[in-house]
Amino acid sequence: MSNQWQTCINCGETMGRGRADAKYCSDRCRQSAHRRNTHHPEQMIETRSCAWCFRPFNARKSSTKKYCGRAACAQAAYRARHKAGRQVRF
Ligand SMILES: [Zn+2]
Ligand SMILES: [Zn+2]
Repeated sequence: MSNQWQTCINCGETMGRGRADAKYCSDRCRQSAHRRNTHHPEQMIETRSCAWCFRPFNARKSSTKKYCGRAACAQAAYRARHKAGRQVRF
């Protein structure tokens, strides 16, 4: 059990020693934080070009996605990688 004072991650208000899993001081803060996250999803998305066919595609900034999502691209890239790996291994 933590005896640290908890602060609301939305407004920074000290909440006192509440439940360990409490992140917001009130429902209002919880809702406004949630709304902010869902209202600006474009901030988390960036346009990349596929490492195989160079077509642009959208990916989340946190993801390590390199291909546009077409099965052909992922397969071609996988096959190329697999072939190279096999040469090294055997
Ligand atoms: Zn708050
Ligand atoms: Zn592609």
